[in-house]
Amino acid sequence: MDALAKLELLAPETRYEPDGDVGQSCPPAALARMGRLQDCITHAAMPNGRRIALLKTLQTSACERDCNYCAFRQGRDFRRVSFSPDELAGMFMQLQRAGLVEGMFLSSGIAGRGPRTQDRLLDTAEILRRRYHFQGYIHLKIMPGAEKEQILAAMRLADRVSINLEAPNEARLAQLSPHKVFMDELVQRLRWIEQIRQSMPGRWPSTTTQFVVGPAGESDRELLHTTEYLYHKLGLVRAYFSSFSPVPDTPLAHHPPTSHRREQRLYQASFLLRDYGFAFRELPFDDAGNLPLQGDPKLLWAERYLLPSPLEINTATREQLLRVPGIGPQGAERVLQARREGRLRHLGDLRRLGIAAQRAAPFVLLDGRRPARQLSFWDALDPVSAV
Ligand code: SF4
Repeated sequence: MDALAKLELLAPETRYEPDGDVGQSCPPAALARMGRLQDCITHAAMPNGRRIALLKTLQTSACERDCNYCAFRQGRDFRRVSFSPDELAGMFMQLQRAGLVEGMFLSSGIAGRGPRTQDRLLDTAEILRRRYHFQGYIHLKIMPGAEKEQILAAMRLADRVSINLEAPNEARLAQLSPHKVFMDELVQRLRWIEQIRQSMPGRWPSTTTQFVVGPAGESDRELLHTTEYLYHKLGLVRAYFSSFSPVPDTPLAHHPPTSHRREQRLYQASFLLRDYGFAFRELPFDDAGNLPLQGDPKLLWAERYLLPSPLEINTATREQLLRVPGIGPQGAERVLQARREGRLRHLGDLRRLGIAAQRAAPFVLLDGRRPARQLSFWDALDPVSAV
């Protein structure tokens, strides 16, 4: 079987590999040419904001582990596919030259222990970089149990490395993945990545992780507590939250799916920790340790603390501006810049700075006065999801 035929065989299973917005912004003509392969295409935003198409594939869909939620767990009945590093790299270059993909996101089932599997991923990336001189984007998974030298090698080859924690702590992970060891196999690898970044000068890849949300019964508080540690202590650029969706023929096949609203609230709260200067203790958890689903966490915080004492936009610090719903990091910078040229007096002044003015209105003073909150046509179109 040639490599493209293998990829086609793998394609339906990769839809279970939760990862962003699979297959969405690909041009229709390209999708038509891809057929089933479009399930293997995901899109990633680059630091410059450009979105690129990535081939999302596995070195092998065989796995010796038995994670309860996973389509690739050992013993599940489907046709497994493995690529040699040579054939995977060659097939990727074929797709890249045809203009179908610009980068690769390479993961794998564990076949022959973590270090051995990691070697195959490294070989594939090495062939792309050295033999084909591929300069584009590579995201490499770090396997549970990978060795420190392998992690350093992965960091020299990739633009991004990731290791999925899946759960926020050891006890929760035991319910999802009975044979993964939370601290030794997973967190320790993230620590090594950060140690390498801190101890060796260089331009190192960014690091991410992913949680499967729901089936281990974890609370949002547990997830976000770990997330805060990862952002502030281990230099992660992003934690992904993936709503659990049951996979047939797995132990969790009959577990109810997790709502996407919960996933959305977790993302909003994690951005507050990462980009908005919020401390973990400020997040509005309920008694069960979960974020209320009915409102975004920044809005709930502002309703409690800013509604009674609104913030004067003309004197607020950057940190204070970031607490206002509708003002993000860019909006706060624009406000600070605009204030050097004069006072901001009307909602229209905020709107011209790209701020969701109507959303901000209940929580601010403009030149000492609460702004009139007449709904304009443009405000009616403000995206409610702005944090
Ligand atoms: S180790 Fe990875 S591929 Fe294997 S069963 Fe667990 S989650 Fe799935």
